[in-house]
Amino acid sequence: MTQLTAAITVHSLEQALGAAVRAKELGADLVEYRIDTFTDDPDDVTELVQRSALPCIITCRPVWEGGAYDGDEQTRLSLLEHAGVGVRKPVYIDLELLAWQKSANLRQKISLVVDDPGRPRETDTGLILSSHDFERRPSDLLRKVREMGEASLCRVIKVAWHARSLRDNLEAFELVGQQVKPTVALCMGEYGLASRVLAKKFGAMLTFASIDGDAGTAPGQPTVGEMKGLYRWDAINSQTRVFGVIGYPVGHSMSPAIHNAGFGAAGVDGVYLPMPIPPEYEHFKATVSSWLGMKGLHFGGASVTIPHKENLLRFVKEHCGSGGRGEVEELAERIGAANTLHVREDGSLYACNTDYAGALDAVCDGLSIQREGLSGRRVAVIGAGGAARAVVAGFAHYGALVTVYNRTLEKAEALGERFGAEAKALGDLSASEAEVYINCTPIGMHPEVDASPIDISDERSAIRNHFGPGVVVFDTIYNPVKTKLLRDAAGAGCVTISGTEMFVRQAAAQFELWTGEAAPLGVFRGVLNEKLKRTSNGL
Ligand code: NAP
Repeated sequence: MTQLTAAITVHSLEQALGAAVRAKELGADLVEYRIDTFTDDPDDVTELVQRSALPCIITCRPVWEGGAYDGDEQTRLSLLEHAGVGVRKPVYIDLELLAWQKSANLRQKISLVVDDPGRPRETDTGLILSSHDFERRPSDLLRKVREMGEASLCRVIKVAWHARSLRDNLEAFELVGQQVKPTVALCMGEYGLASRVLAKKFGAMLTFASIDGDAGTAPGQPTVGEMKGLYRWDAINSQTRVFGVIGYPVGHSMSPAIHNAGFGAAGVDGVYLPMPIPPEYEHFKATVSSWLGMKGLHFGGASVTIPHKENLLRFVKEHCGSGGRGEVEELAERIGAANTLHVREDGSLYACNTDYAGALDAVCDGLSIQREGLSGRRVAVIGAGGAARAVVAGFAHYGALVTVYNRTLEKAEALGERFGAEAKALGDLSASEAEVYINCTPIGMHPEVDASPIDISDERSAIRNHFGPGVVVFDTIYNPVKTKLLRDAAGAGCVTISGTEMFVRQAAAQFELWTGEAAPLGVFRGVLNEKLKRTSNGL
């Protein structure tokens, strides 16, 4: 079973022991004490091991391997030896492959404190041989792995390198699966999260996480709390299906929190990860192709956001054009953007757009009508960007009489022409008489929370009298949940719908496509509102 290991940088005995207690409370299985700058006194290390709340790994990483220990090898050796002299032993001692190969003295001394399968000993401490590269995938990675495997005392092979792209994670998974000894293969940096979370899916010996609030010991380490809560560590197994949100950047995305909570609530065996891919189509194509190509990954699909919505469409079309099985939703094709990739059970691909579906469902529910009931209704769409495009396409498709109002008239005209809508300048909005108003501009978005695209509250405004019961106002902005536009509209007696509903419903449509289960809308709303509250508070 893959052990969730809390990495603790030891500054003092009490701090480290306290951190281990916290790690245990959070649900970690193991702790790694990084004693690089802890002490010169070997007895301190013995005491640390004796009093540890969790079984431990002892590591004293030298500067030349990316650690902080800059003393002499003799002292380092003595610290490591003393880790194993007490009644309680560390479960593992970690040593760099290079140090192991370089020094016969070190090999001889360490061999006395670790378990040797050939010679029965009192200790069960295992030896981890490790190698790290904080800049790139080392060109001799496979040689190193082989040499660790061949070292008879080495119980665990560990390699970690800075990932250049999401594709590196796949090599980490393969390495773990190919070795005869327990193996840890981790990718560092923004692209490496999958190797850490999915270590359990592929049967790695352990994965590392930081203790909440700590910096961790390597770039890209999630916290134990994130592993257990957000990424569903306890539920991950070899069959778990993998989903994600593809974008650049994606660190701020609320989708992992929403979908993972949804999987938990609906009992779906899935996990959802952020998947950063740089903007160019070639990156998108190479990464998605490689993830689709790895069988044991069970990659089930992805939400796709800026700047890849057009790339997804192109990718699935090219895939179909070159003999692959797949399909693009007709309306997504007309919109020119897709936000959802679904890998169907038979391996074929499906690209669709749930943004328009989310907007339609949000408004139809607000009006208590079916989509067909939109036919003939007068809808004013403010803005002519990406969100407006999906909204205009969706409403026009169901027969609504759409007028696009935009600051740049030409863009409104182009949109109108494509989807059979009228186009007007933003200034003409004051003379409009629509039944449904949809804001698709960022006006009123956090932090400009006192701005509004329609001046409903201004008593001199001509449009003011038009707003009242029977008029529906939908703001696609979801941060804040209640924009000034919605507050003013509600004050005038209109039906108001927040952008959170569109967000929740586009996510729900994805969830239902991937899982075949009804999305737990209440859970989605709760998670989103909680996240937004924290964002607005600057957390
Ligand atoms: P976009 O492609 O950049 O388009 C922005 C549109 O807003 C353009 O038409 C632009 O007019 C107009 N605009 C921007 N600033 C303006 C200003 N100060 N005055 C007048 N018009 C202005 O952006 P997008 O992707 O469509 O996103 C727009 C909004 O939709 C965002 O606020 C986002 O929160 C929301 N959204 C919500 C969801 C959801 O699930 N709830 C999903 C996607 C987007 P010009 O053409 O003249 O530049």
